[in-house]
Amino acid sequence: MPADYQFVVKVKEAVKPKRIPKDVTTQLKGVASGKAMARMKKENVDCPVVKDEVGFLICFACPSFVRRVMGEVHCAGGDGPPREWLL
Ligand code: SF4
Repeated sequence: MPADYQFVVKVKEAVKPKRIPKDVTTQLKGVASGKAMARMKKENVDCPVVKDEVGFLICFACPSFVRRVMGEVHCAGGDGPPREWLL
């Protein structure tokens, strides 16, 4: 079976957590507990599509997000997160 993702991206502890737009937190409401959300807020990924560091929650809500496995994101490599999410 061909892989359903193009990139494997490491999730890392953020030195400087990214600002997460309200749109994103609203979209993810109920997906994870408040405690898990608070932890994920402090994680970043080096996104191969926008070629910059992106907050993990933005990645989680991104149309190219496939899954997170053992600290890595499987990314479909299609459209990246909407521009207005990248503040
Ligand atoms: S899922 Fe989206 S934000 Fe995450 S690495 Fe892929 S393109 Fe970047």
